[in-house]
Amino acid sequence: MTADQSVTEPVAATGAATMVDVAIVGGGLAGSLAAAVLARAGHRVTLIDKRAVYPDEFRVEKIGGPQLEMFRKLGFIRGLESVACPYDRVLNIREGKLVDVSVGQAYGLPYADLVAMARGQIPDASSLIVDEVTAISCSDDVQQLELASGRRLKARLVVLATGMAGALGYKLGIKRRVLAAGHSVSFGFTIARRDGAPFDFNALTCYGERTADGVDYLSLFPVQAGMRANLFMFRDPADPVMRDLRRDTEATLLRLLPGLRPYLGDFHVTDRVQNWVMDLSVVEGHLQDGVVLIGDAFQTNCPAAGTGVARLLVDVERLCTEYAPRWLMTEGMGKAKISEFYSDRDKIAADQQSLKMAHFRQALTSRNDIGWDVRRRLHFLRRSLTHRVDQMRPGWLAQVRSALRA
Ligand SMILES: Cc1cc2nc3c(=O)[nH]c(=O)nc-3n(C[C@H](O)[C@H](O)[C@H](O)COP(=O)(O)OP(=O)(O)OC[C@H]3O[C@@H](n4cnc5c(N)ncnc54)[C@H](O)[C@@H]3O)c2cc1C
Repeated sequence: MTADQSVTEPVAATGAATMVDVAIVGGGLAGSLAAAVLARAGHRVTLIDKRAVYPDEFRVEKIGGPQLEMFRKLGFIRGLESVACPYDRVLNIREGKLVDVSVGQAYGLPYADLVAMARGQIPDASSLIVDEVTAISCSDDVQQLELASGRRLKARLVVLATGMAGALGYKLGIKRRVLAAGHSVSFGFTIARRDGAPFDFNALTCYGERTADGVDYLSLFPVQAGMRANLFMFRDPADPVMRDLRRDTEATLLRLLPGLRPYLGDFHVTDRVQNWVMDLSVVEGHLQDGVVLIGDAFQTNCPAAGTGVARLLVDVERLCTEYAPRWLMTEGMGKAKISEFYSDRDKIAADQQSLKMAHFRQALTSRNDIGWDVRRRLHFLRRSLTHRVDQMRPGWLAQVRSALRA
């Protein structure tokens, strides 16, 4: 099923409202994965998104590490493998020198393809309604949804997976508390060498050189369209360097990261430069009858920390394989049931880890007091020494670490 085929066009007001077990509002990654997991388990699910196909918007573009285990556990790993570019070796450099090499399976792909893959795993194409949810009224029994087309739906449980769009939640009295406005700035674009030759690396991470620049790192990894670049910064979004990065990307990149030059050669940007300013925020007033928030709708993440997908996967796994199936077995959908999800240990740990990493990456990048300066030097020194020892005596450090843990 492709994203194009998987949609039900908006329908006019039909009078009687359709009743389902779970109505999921928002078909980004969180909502689409949740719909697929619940529908595969036999629940009557409706996924509503205002767009038939997720647009070409910059969000997460690489999946790797522990995220892959979760994709596997939830049954999406083959879908991911079928649409993404694999890579398993990342050169990590700073000031033009090798820090270390990360080895491990990872995949690069546009976010729109990731969402299309997740939507494509929903067993029944008609579960997706392309429409905008304009109002929700919740109770401890049946929830009612109004759609822009005039259509109405009823559900036992509403899952709000509306990402950073807060309007619907706001109508329910759910507010966003901003923890850090303009916390980070991210740029996404694709590059190629001017001579058409491939780059000499599979994937590369280049860390910032000076705290004043506010560059955390540039991540280069393969996608089908070429070599994708994600640049993550902690710097005033109004600083003129942001405009330079949009208008004269190649030269500005080399000015900020001069050590990159020998690795990139004569390169150019091959598509639109997208950029994004991220506020860190978390919702308040969310514990309500009949409705539960997941993914970015609950808490936003720092893109540099790379924790957004880990968080939303924990949300989907806990809600859709543990709580929602259990809640649906008995009558009612009051706060007492909903609070079980928000009190889940794994969920709380993932949310807290995401905020902790957001603050850590910012401090490691841009704090210039002595304490953080020493910490930064030690951070890279430790990595580069570990790498050298690993090269001289492969596997020895891993053995020492496991002996110490035993
Ligand atoms: C620039 C950037 C880079 C990032 N990089 C990384 C990274 O490297 N690693 C990582 O782990 N995370 C990263 N993230 C975070 C990650 O992309 C997000 O956590 C994730 O995409 C959130 O998915 P979601 O489904 O919660 O929200 P979204 O993908 O935003 O989906 C929300 C959906 O809700 C729909 N919607 C909203 N309101 C309504 C309505 N009223 N009716 C119907 N539909 C509605 C929208 O159309 C949309 O499809 C990055 C984020 C950004 C912005």
